[in-house]
Amino acid sequence: MNVLVINAGSSSLKYQLFNMDNKAVLAKGLCERIGIDGRLTHTNPNKEEKYKADVPMKDHADAIRAVINILIDKEWGVIESMSEIDAVGHRVVHGGEYFADSVLINDEVIKAIEACVPLAPLHNTANLIGISACKDVMGENIPQVAVFDTAFHQTMPPEHYMYALPYEYYEKYKIRRYGFHGTSHKYVSQQASEMLGIPIENLRLVTCHLGNGSSIAAIKGGKSMDTSMGFTPLAGLPMGTRAGNIDPAIISFLCDHEHKEADEIIDILNKKSGMLGISGVSSDFRDLDTAIEEGNPRAKLAKDMFNLSVKKIIGSYIAEMGGVDAIVFTAGVGENDRSVRWDVCEHMEYLGIKIDPEKNKFRGRQMDISIDYARVRVLVIPTNEELVIAEDTERLVNEAK
Ligand code: AMP
Repeated sequence: MNVLVINAGSSSLKYQLFNMDNKAVLAKGLCERIGIDGRLTHTNPNKEEKYKADVPMKDHADAIRAVINILIDKEWGVIESMSEIDAVGHRVVHGGEYFADSVLINDEVIKAIEACVPLAPLHNTANLIGISACKDVMGENIPQVAVFDTAFHQTMPPEHYMYALPYEYYEKYKIRRYGFHGTSHKYVSQQASEMLGIPIENLRLVTCHLGNGSSIAAIKGGKSMDTSMGFTPLAGLPMGTRAGNIDPAIISFLCDHEHKEADEIIDILNKKSGMLGISGVSSDFRDLDTAIEEGNPRAKLAKDMFNLSVKKIIGSYIAEMGGVDAIVFTAGVGENDRSVRWDVCEHMEYLGIKIDPEKNKFRGRQMDISIDYARVRVLVIPTNEELVIAEDTERLVNEAK
């Protein structure tokens, strides 16, 4: 079965075509500047160079057409015709309380995703546009599946997902912790179980998805028990440009003193805070490292704050689960930045956590980096959200047959 995985944003669309017989990525790419002019970057693994071209894309349907055209292109393509695409899997950011698993898309599912738009206005709207564009271009008969960032965390018990607000706000507006990056947390927890040779039902894991956006999850017996992002992906750790947890009273203080509306302050908390806001240098951890080497104290402060926040959350999750068997690092920073892994795990020997500095030098590949005798394993596991989307799509399509 060939599965096309689509991750639609407001002006961009990422795609990967999988052959599920061997889980190989046949091709992947990115449409950008949709609705502005349109740019396509396409990778065929059999070619050394990437295909890059300006392709007019007035909307997402044009972008999907451009994807299909390049996938069947004589020179750059990997399939003969559109009929070789058996199913489409969509990343959908918010499934609210409706979805605890991926689902085959039908009219009812579309309505539920629409009902979640107020919870993630930009993301879910873009995801819906991506779904309808695929339907328009590829027809009604091709099965489409939605895979939600929030679904994996639907196992959290109420004491972990409720905010201590008047209860009616939960009833009226469904204000609660949802958590995100669920597909990634699920994938790396399953990989960790395989790596350790221990059934997931018997494992207590802390999975650290540290990238441009970052979140941590406590996973007990394969189920998400707690996670650091909240009602929105703004909560939890300080991130590339996001503030993470702050005292909410700061928002009204800033509205008064900066003469701004609340949504302008939220925009600052989303786009100008975090590593960028503190360092004044960049949201990218590589740039922070360069600045730290040059002696920039604010870049060092930003990274120290990040590492401390990760450590604090790991500690609290170990307390919640009554112990931990493995800590997993994943995503851009978690997979590549050894100083983050080292600083986060430093002085945790009393919990049985100790990284081997030699093993920690490796990056970007699956690896156990703890010293041999450590009671708790520290694992680096490159995430693969697209593969999970493709696998869920294949499973649901087969179940429906
Ligand atoms: P992601 O959101 O998972 O794609 O992660 C992107 C982030 O990973 C970038 O913004 C960088 O801060 C970070 N990153 C990527 N490669 C490296 C690296 N080699 N060393 C440190 N940080 C990295």
